[in-house]
Amino acid sequence: MGSTDEGPTPDPSFAGETALITGTARGIGRACAVRFAERGATVVGGDRLDQSETAATCADLPGAFEPVAADVTDPAAVEALVERAADTGRVDAVVNVAGIVAREPLATHDGEPWERSVAVNLTAPFRIAREAAPHLRETGGAVVNVSSIYGQIGAAERAGYVSTKAGLEGLTRALAAELGEDGVRANAVAPGFIETPMTEPYAEDGAARERFRELAALGRLGEPSEVASVVTFLASDDASFVTGETVLVDGGRATVE
Ligand code: NAP
Repeated sequence: MGSTDEGPTPDPSFAGETALITGTARGIGRACAVRFAERGATVVGGDRLDQSETAATCADLPGAFEPVAADVTDPAAVEALVERAADTGRVDAVVNVAGIVAREPLATHDGEPWERSVAVNLTAPFRIAREAAPHLRETGGAVVNVSSIYGQIGAAERAGYVSTKAGLEGLTRALAAELGEDGVRANAVAPGFIETPMTEPYAEDGAARERFRELAALGRLGEPSEVASVVTFLASDDASFVTGETVLVDGGRATVE
């Protein structure tokens, strides 16, 4: 369903809507921007990297892409990003994708990776959701946070990442509780190993790549578009009675032996 010999059937289900997405320069955030634009949304994308590639990819799609230079740890930049999205007339979806993973062995790290992880992976999504909430209440919109399987299982030398992703899933449930009566939903996705610039170092290491491949029941690594399609599902009316949920997008990595 959904495609013909001529290619994908156009799906204009987000036409006239606006999605605010972070981390749109590359990886999963970029795939989300493309998926929302394919469905007709105007995407306001925040990233601290150059977003010209995303803009070029979106240029031929039914929706529009508007890049905003924003470090999500900067409160003023977050305010400007949300304002830019609201300037389109409405905010229907907020997708918190920007995130970092830092190696921090307990014996040697000085606390800086922990602080940075909290700032990017947890405080920024909270601040963005808080700033965007009045606009989402007007549209009955949705928040989708990008967590990780490491929000649910532990990993050595990743205290900041594991803790902030678990916290992000808690934040998702708190937002669902607080905004639900106004018709605003909040959900999360928890990807497994997805091939992006973030995971390039592991993907280039043949042994590590093989190990991650074997850990997934589907026997392969994931693509950014496979996360983006679940994100758009959760933001769409197809998920109209789903809130407070975290959906694993991990090829069976965390739940299947
Ligand atoms: P990525 O390739 O590193 O892309 C993340 C994007 O977010 C980059 O453009 C990055 O820019 C940007 N970003 C980081 N910190 C930012 C900040 N302070 N302000 C604005 N933009 C910022 O990562 P990805 O693999 O697509 O991951 C996206 C999300 O999925 C993350 O939250 C990650 O934890 C999660 N995730 C990924 C995987 C995976 O296997 N790839 C698995 C589970 C969860 P910079 O390069 O400048 O930092």
